[in-house]
This record gives sequence, C-alpha cells and structure tokens, in this order.
Amino acid sequence: MADGFDHRTAAGDHTVHADPSCRPDDAVTAVLPERSAVPGGSREANAVAVLGTIRRHGPLSRAAIAAGAGLSLPTVSRVVTALTELRLVREQPDHVHDRGVGRPRVPIDVDTSAVAACGIHLGLSTTTVGLADLRGRLLESERMPTPAGSAEDALTSIAERVRALLRRHPARLVAGVGLAAGGLVDPDSGVLRHDGLGWPEVEAGTTLERALGLPVVVDGHVPAMAAAELLFGSGGRAGTMLYVYARQVTGAVLAVDGRVLRGRGRAGGIAHLPVGGDVRCGCGARGCLEVTVAERTVLAEALRAGVVDRPDIRSLHVAAADGHPDADRLLTGRARALGRAVAVLRDLHDPDVVVLGGQAVTDAPGHFPELRDSFAAASALPGTELLRQNSFGPDVQAVAACTGVLERVYAHPFGSR
Ligand SMILES: [Zn+2]
Repeated sequence: MADGFDHRTAAGDHTVHADPSCRPDDAVTAVLPERSAVPGGSREANAVAVLGTIRRHGPLSRAAIAAGAGLSLPTVSRVVTALTELRLVREQPDHVHDRGVGRPRVPIDVDTSAVAACGIHLGLSTTTVGLADLRGRLLESERMPTPAGSAEDALTSIAERVRALLRRHPARLVAGVGLAAGGLVDPDSGVLRHDGLGWPEVEAGTTLERALGLPVVVDGHVPAMAAAELLFGSGGRAGTMLYVYARQVTGAVLAVDGRVLRGRGRAGGIAHLPVGGDVRCGCGARGCLEVTVAERTVLAEALRAGVVDRPDIRSLHVAAADGHPDADRLLTGRARALGRAVAVLRDLHDPDVVVLGGQAVTDAPGHFPELRDSFAAASALPGTELLRQNSFGPDVQAVAACTGVLERVYAHPFGSR
C-alpha cells in the first residue's frame, strides 16, 4: 500500500490474524471481511445470541449463557469455542465459582483485550478520533479542529491521525473504522453531504477505506450516539427511546425495541424547531433551536456581554460556577430552550425514555434542573423521570463513532455483513 501500512483484512469467515512476528504496523488487522462475505444462517444466529447474552450479562457460566440465549449447552460450548478463537470472548478464571462438586465452572466474558474498533466523529468545529474495546470503553481518544479545506484534504489529514492512533496500539485487532458525522449521511453507500462544512456529496466511506485499508462504517452522528446508548449505555432494549443531541448542531432520533430508526438519514433535523427567543437563524427566522442553543451562539453572546475574553466554552462554565450572573443567564437560557424543544419531541413520540447527549447538556450539569423544569412546563404529558443524560458524558462523540463497527461485530461475529 502506498502509505506503507499493511492493514490486512481477514479473508476467511472467521480468521483473525495476530502473527507475533509481524512488525507493529502489520498487527493492525481487521476482523470484518469484504462485503461479499457468505450470509450467516443459524450458526451465526446462535453466535449472535450467545455473544449478546454475554455482553449484556457477562461474566456468565456456559449453563447460564444457555439459559439466557435459549440454546442447548453443547451448542453454547461450540459457539463459545468459536468466539474464543476469534478473541471476542474469553474465560475469566478470576470469577470461577467452585462449588466443590465436579469441575469448577469458569465464567465467560467479552474479551476486551484484543479486538477494538476505531472511530472518527466529524464535527462542525471539532473532530474526534478514538479507539474502543468490545465493551465500548475508550482506550484512547483525541480531539482536533476539523480540518478546513476540501473534503478530500480533510479526510486525508484525519486518516493520518487515525494511523498514528493505531500505531500506538499495535497489539489490537482493529475490526474497522466508524465515521459518524452530521449532515446528510447514507450509511449504505458511505456517501456524506455536509453543508455546514461546505462539503458536497463525498464518498467518505470509500475514501477512508482506501486511505486506511480497513472496512469503514459511516453513520449519522445522532443515530450512532443512540446506538451506543442501546449497546453500552442505559437506553434499554425494549420500548421507545428518544435521543436528543445538542452542541454546535442539534439532532434527534428514535429507537424502538432496541433498533435505531435511521430511515433515509434525513429524519431528526430539529435545527429549525421554534423555541422562542430572538436569535436570528440562517433560515431567516428567529428563535430556531439549533442557532439558539449552539455553543458558538452562547459563546458569542458571552463575549459580547464581557463574561469571557476568548471563545472558550470552559471559561463560560468557570464564570457560571463563580456566580457571574450573565454567565448563569446565558446557560439558563440555553437549558430552558432545550427543555422546550425536548418537550415538543416528547409529546410527538411519547417515548419511554428520553436520553440527552452532547456538551450543551453534559457540560452544564448545574443547569439540568432548569432544562427539566422547562421541559415539564412545556410538555403536555406528565412526568420528568424519563429524562436521562447520556451514559458517556463528553466522550459521547468518540464512543458513538466506534459503535458502528462494534454493532457489526455483535450482529455478525463471524464476519459476514
Ligand atoms: Zn432556522
């Protein structure tokens, strides 16, 4: 490969290479094969059930997995052997339950030591790259200003950062790279159009696959965050979850019975939901949600009011913590506007859970009560106990970006898509 990297992709239906004689760069190896892989069938269905049971409830004995997955013990043992070879699960001798009768039962858990997923969150101002283990826990992440210039140049320099990140984790078997982005995203083709960045339709998935030699999964960033919440957070699998995101951009997505409703990638555009106020929006109206709550707007107002002397959101939070009345007024205004918007979305869908993500919420925990009170006042439905903050705090972008790859590992543990 031109970049000198040799990121091999597993060719067989469950081949994972970890040749210790390889140079570190060579050890970055994909688990997911090409898109033409053989379809699954019951062997895969059993593996999905076993792996899902272990992910949700592990560490578990084989007998407990059999009960949880509704499979026979011999089937579970066979599947566990196959998943162990793939380094997706492993025995946890530390958790042995020795009841003194027969062989001690060594529980099985997700193997967080080998396979990893890489992720890129492409934000309007900040891009985050990260690497997560099979439980969605970040091994490392780093932020950079989203590169200016053409989409191709930006993707090239982001790919450079990803390669540097992977070089720092040479022993990891990298299953692929997730790209989570705002704008219009087609997960099937990997094509992205991002008006905010001035990107026309770009074959982002293909471009990154070529640059990195790894499979790339492209998803909208809000659906990816909702998927992360379902897979690794508190979203729960049953019922309806509404996920609302707010930082520089806003978005919302619905998940029903553990599945994110992605539609054609155009739903959930709540940027112009009217929330009152007089901030002028690019659409010509005043009081649209996104422009009202965006970090850049709040910061611009803080600069104008003399609350901060540089456009740094942390300074605003520090000022608020120090009791600066204008800082508090700005953050309270944002929290109330968000609360009103979330109330409208809640009344529209009547979900079981509303998960709020993004720094507009998670960086301002002191203002959550105001968000909740404004939500309660604006919603026609009773109760606020369904409101939750997302499970990943300020890491939400990085975890979400890695999640697309991890979802595929859990849906297709033997590698077919
Ligand atoms: Zn607008």
